[in-house]
Amino acid sequence: MRHRIAVIGAGPAGLTFARVLHRHGHPVTVLERDPAPDARPPGGTLDMHEGLGQLALDKAGLLAEFQALSRPEGQAMRILDTDGTVLRDWRPRPDDRANPEIDRGQLRDLLLGPLDVQWGRGVTEVVPGTRGGVLVRFADGRQETFDLVVGADGAWSRVRPAVSPTTPHYTGVTLVETSLDDVDTRHPGLARLIGDGSVAVYGVNRGLVAQRNSGGHVKVYAQFRAPLDWHTNPGRDMGLNGRTDVDADLGTDPGAGLGTDPGAGLGPGAGLGVGLDLADGEAVRSSLLALFDGWAAPVLDLLRHGTAFVHRPLYVLPVSHTWTHVPGVTLLGDAAHLMPPLGIGANLAMLEGAELAESAAAAPDDLDKAVRAFEEQMWVRAGRWAKMTTAGLERLVSPDPREALALFDEVQAS
Ligand SMILES: Cc1cc2nc3c(=O)[nH]c(=O)nc-3n(C[C@H](O)[C@H](O)[C@H](O)COP(=O)(O)OP(=O)(O)OC[C@H]3O[C@@H](n4cnc5c(N)ncnc54)[C@H](O)[C@@H]3O)c2cc1C
Repeated sequence: MRHRIAVIGAGPAGLTFARVLHRHGHPVTVLERDPAPDARPPGGTLDMHEGLGQLALDKAGLLAEFQALSRPEGQAMRILDTDGTVLRDWRPRPDDRANPEIDRGQLRDLLLGPLDVQWGRGVTEVVPGTRGGVLVRFADGRQETFDLVVGADGAWSRVRPAVSPTTPHYTGVTLVETSLDDVDTRHPGLARLIGDGSVAVYGVNRGLVAQRNSGGHVKVYAQFRAPLDWHTNPGRDMGLNGRTDVDADLGTDPGAGLGTDPGAGLGPGAGLGVGLDLADGEAVRSSLLALFDGWAAPVLDLLRHGTAFVHRPLYVLPVSHTWTHVPGVTLLGDAAHLMPPLGIGANLAMLEGAELAESAAAAPDDLDKAVRAFEEQMWVRAGRWAKMTTAGLERLVSPDPREALALFDEVQAS
């Protein structure tokens, strides 16, 4: 294959694409904004589904290595009531390999292998239809042309504008992430609470989830329904104590209402939103402890012992995001279909990367036809998952916490 192919972004999508092309003996240029692989914390743990992420790893020839690294026991899931009562304590069978967990950093290193990524090459713009191919402009002022540019640069993609004017919108749900280290030695009580995998506690329009990573590291996610400016705008009703207008809109269409302003006027006892400085960890901790006031003490210890708090408002693209095909440019993963983080985004991103690479490798004479066919297939599957995860988020962070439990029972039974 003589085509000059570039992939923008060395996340799960871009690296899987590059690794599968590499396996087929085809050169690919990988351009990543981060200056080095470990330039920022890699993030939490990912579950890799059979038939999705695991299939992609198989296509990359990495399944055996993945199995050696991954944590099948990490599939375990406990659900507690806000008073600490154990509602569910699900553990996988010893031979269950349906959704084992792997740290993001481990997955990245596995995919990187022999790839020659160009680090510190932030892309600012992609211009299709220029003489000599698709023009890629970089933050340092340089530019290069390629025959195919694959945008795997995540939620705030700089490649997306070349094919679609759509931008992500806020879901109405925010996560605040914190971490615990050496949980087994430093916090044995919390280690038991979390178990081998995850523990989740759901209340009215809010929840706390803790997930074990390797090496005794735990990521804790406080999640709640709130306006985007919850931390700066005093006196807004966050809808935390009941249904908001937007919640009411969501009854039939799971995509409806997302991105609109989810509420007005701070409800009594919400405990948030009075000029909070998100950079002030202790202030964020106090604010979260007020938000979850009344929950069982061991559950609140997840916040009391957390170090560093990271604010992550959840954004999504519309459920059926598609575009008119543009020769020479396409998108993968979050750049194409950002959806609520319900354990599927990286899986889809990787499978898409593997499939596009296989299609490109199999069609050296008509690359554009292969890309078009890939896009059609991606849109249908991603649309299905976007609908499911959007509906799932509505149930997980819901005015009725029984919805979250019911969702768990439905998914676990299937
Ligand atoms: C809290 C949380 C938990 C999650 N848990 C799971 C899970 O268990 N399972 C799962 O499947 N999914 C999960 N997801 C979703 C998953 O993280 C994403 O769907 C996945 O990372 C998307 O991969 P990607 O390669 O498309 O994008 P990204 O992972 O965002 O990678 C994009 C890459 O592009 C680079 N980049 C960005 N802009 C530029 C630029 N202009 N120029 C060059 N490079 C650029 C970035 O630095 C990055 O390396 C979770 C998400 C969150 C927030």
